[in-house]
Amino acid sequence: QYLIEIKNLNKIYSDGTEVKALDGVNLTIKHGEFMAIVGPSGSGKSTLLHILGILDTPTQGSIIIDNKNITSMSDKERSKARNKMLGFIFQYHNLLPDFTALENVMIPLLISGYSKNEAKESAQNMLKEVGLEDRMYHKPGELSGGQNQRVSVARALVNNPTIVIGDEPTGNLDTKTSDRIYELLRKLNRERGQTFILVTHDENMAKKTDRIERLIDGKIVNS
Ligand code: ADP
Ligand code: ADP
Repeated sequence: QYLIEIKNLNKIYSDGTEVKALDGVNLTIKHGEFMAIVGPSGSGKSTLLHILGILDTPTQGSIIIDNKNITSMSDKERSKARNKMLGFIFQYHNLLPDFTALENVMIPLLISGYSKNEAKESAQNMLKEVGLEDRMYHKPGELSGGQNQRVSVARALVNNPTIVIGDEPTGNLDTKTSDRIYELLRKLNRERGQTFILVTHDENMAKKTDRIERLIDGKIVNS
């Protein structure tokens, strides 16, 4: 039983010239996996990530997440599925600069309809899990790169998504800070059992995950 089943995925961009960004991608991912997708620039990583994240649709092929066929959903259903099932961690933590760490982490909960008190309590607990209990009332400008990335991780996970997608989650951090963020993601995967899919250039980090899938020219190659 797979959590994610991607079959024969093609993505063609055709604004002017045609670009086949994904070419017959097949991929199955189980519940709780901790994996990396690596590949050179232009190999289709972002395209695959956007489709996996229900942010974009393929030209051909199907994607089934948690027994639901994403490709046959309406925009509204896709948006609902995305908000319920996915958490995103970006390279450049796009936190809101005028809000505290706590408020940034509360936002997804407020959007999901939790009361302010419920959101605050869950966000505080999540910030504790990422080791930021002392920094909850600071704004992004008052936190280090690594601390801000922890806030991003907390924000991505606070709604308890089934799947956590990291787009170069340690991309702009120094080696030591990257290692610590990696350890944090690993700990959260172990403790919470969520599925982590990390797109990365960082071979060192990729090697530490349980599974590496390589993309070249829009195709998954066996390593
Ligand atoms: P990666 O993330 O591995 O760098 P991308 O998925 O961004 O790869 O890109 C894969 C290919 O698709 C590249 O050739 C890129 O130029 C092309 N591409 C990506 N997005 C678009 C777009 N919106 N329109 C046209 N071509 C695109
Ligand atoms: P909705 O249609 O539900 O308002 P949005 O398009 O605003 O959804 O985004 C929903 C989720 O997808 C948010 O968590 C947001 O951070 C994430 N998201 C939006 N755009 C991108 C993107 N280009 N790459 C990765 N994640 C994105």
